[in-house]
Amino acid sequence: MGKFPTKYIFVTGGVTSSLGKGIISASLGKLLTSRGYSVTIQKLDPYINVDPGTMNPYEHGECYVTDDGAETDLDLGHYERFLNHSTSQANNVTTGRIYQTVIQKERKGDYLGKTVQIIPHITDEIKRRIQLLGETGQFDFVITEIGGTVGDIEALPYIEAVRQLKWELENSALFIHLTLVPYLAAAGELKTKPTQHSVKTLLEAGIQPDILVCRTEHHLGSDIKRKVARFCNVEREAVIESMDASTIYEVPLLMQKEGLDKIVLKKLGLEDNTEVKLEKWNKFLTNLQNPKQEITIGLVGKYVELQDAYKSISEAIIHAGAKNSCKVKVNWIHAEEINNTNAAEKLAGLKGVLVAPGFGDRGMEGKIATIKHLRENNIPFFGICLGMQSAVIEYSQNVLGLKDANSTEMDLKTKYPVIDMMDDQKKIINKGGTMRLGSWECKLKKNSLVSKIYNCDIIHERHRHRYEFNSEYFKDIEENGMLATGINSDTGLVEIIELKNHPWFVGVQFHPEYKSTVLSPHPLFVSFIAAATKHSNN
Ligand code: GLN
Repeated sequence: MGKFPTKYIFVTGGVTSSLGKGIISASLGKLLTSRGYSVTIQKLDPYINVDPGTMNPYEHGECYVTDDGAETDLDLGHYERFLNHSTSQANNVTTGRIYQTVIQKERKGDYLGKTVQIIPHITDEIKRRIQLLGETGQFDFVITEIGGTVGDIEALPYIEAVRQLKWELENSALFIHLTLVPYLAAAGELKTKPTQHSVKTLLEAGIQPDILVCRTEHHLGSDIKRKVARFCNVEREAVIESMDASTIYEVPLLMQKEGLDKIVLKKLGLEDNTEVKLEKWNKFLTNLQNPKQEITIGLVGKYVELQDAYKSISEAIIHAGAKNSCKVKVNWIHAEEINNTNAAEKLAGLKGVLVAPGFGDRGMEGKIATIKHLRENNIPFFGICLGMQSAVIEYSQNVLGLKDANSTEMDLKTKYPVIDMMDDQKKIINKGGTMRLGSWECKLKKNSLVSKIYNCDIIHERHRHRYEFNSEYFKDIEENGMLATGINSDTGLVEIIELKNHPWFVGVQFHPEYKSTVLSPHPLFVSFIAAATKHSNN
């Protein structure tokens, strides 16, 4: 139960996109939780897609998956990594989902013959979605981040909805606006005008921000802060400087120094009588910033040009590196560039390689060539989802001698469908939200490498895929030395494979990266990096 009726904090952005609203929201959430409050963070996305699940990663970066199987914006990953608590479908709402609900209601006749309009019907649905989390009674604070930039046509219904909510919630709501204070090298000056204009745009929509967080490459200094305060009707101490940080994990500390948590409490009429406790967080930062060794690992995938496509994987590697006091450099390699002839050269010097999740056959040959090289040369291999499926295909082709073994995703007519779709998936026509999604239980085989790594028998991990290890090949593969060491007890589906005679060769059908957080780095990533450092010392 929350300590008091839920307080709502709305975070908007102005001037440009990519100012880091997600990180600021997560950092504020971190500071408030470290004072003992319960906090959750929600993202409102202004696009028409019902969820980002059907979007190409080049469009929107990684699709993050929650325990309850929601396919969400990657910012939810930051919320979980910072707050160390699970989010759910309710934490991510898109315009598509809002309209879908309103239109379904209209079809059912719920509006009793009224004309259905943006105001009040769409805005009411937005307000309902924002308050859903608060109504659970679990949270002292709900931080709601509004995607996009103020002034965007798409964001207008959201801005209007939170304007109304602020009045309805009276002293229980607060606005934080993120802006940019650019430095003009030619003038040698920081410029506040874009911030002033962006606040004006908010004022036109009826919203007076309570706190301004100003993203900047140079310290603002008290003159600039005073100027921003004066022109934008905020208190001087409510102008918060947000300097570029060397790592996103430093931002909570920078925000604490600037007093963001204190001013939030003050503006919401709460007493500042709790202490920020960040010992574990600071320990993580110290480890991260003072590594004892450095290694380079490879990440072989198909979306390597846009690293946001593998956001949770890169963050999980950072968490695991800090845990091992090791700086881990990641060499991003395009799967299409690798083949059996050049694999040794392309992968030279790498102490371990992660083969990434993905869809479709582009780069499959390269993934298989990579895995063959790692397997034959005892280099640590970590396969995630399609990476695990590729390992099964490689083993079937090269060890079992099943030439042309494949996944039916890549070759519908393959003679040896070692990876195949389950019958219940075959009936599904719609693409959105129809994969095996969310948290599934998995039983680990006794004495396996993974049972030692997890140090338990039953785990729960998140999934996002359609295809599975085909159990018809189970016996043959195991007899040849690739072991299925994690099985779903209900369905018998294989969730983990590992190799008997290899220092570290693990493939997982699920996505462990989604559950790695600063305070709980994922054991598989920690063990993989440890194995890579050992390989490095050989
Ligand atoms: N394309 C594969 C499947 O659908 C793997 C998906 C993934 O890597 N997330 O099963």
